[in-house]
Amino acid sequence: MLPPRCCTPSSPHGRSTPIPSRSLRDLPNQTAFVEEALRSALGRTCPTCEGAGRTRWASVAVSDFKQRALPRLDRDGAVQLKSLVRLSRELAASTLDLAPRREAPGFDFSVQRGRAVLLRGTLAGNTTTFHAN
Ligand SMILES: [Zn+2]
Repeated sequence: MLPPRCCTPSSPHGRSTPIPSRSLRDLPNQTAFVEEALRSALGRTCPTCEGAGRTRWASVAVSDFKQRALPRLDRDGAVQLKSLVRLSRELAASTLDLAPRREAPGFDFSVQRGRAVLLRGTLAGNTTTFHAN
């Protein structure tokens, strides 16, 4: 299955061009190349797909409740988790990791895209709290 489309190559996100080792003079269109390289360096390359136009992950992997021995979700918790999964999808995250909290009800979570942790937080009762990452 192909991962979902991200931005289109013609969108303002732009496409990143790998800088080849050969000299700039050998390139057929120096101006476009330099413009592209500058745009990329200035951070205008889409951070989600890195210019590829497709996100790398087809879906968000959520921790298995049984496997991780996580406490049962109550109704409020289920509503919070549902929003958190939706947010993770919006962020094109690859993983939503849940862990039981020590001596407190609820879960600690982290939302990751590959190895990068996008955000961390706590899910307890009817409240989701985001922690500075
Ligand atoms: Zn993109």
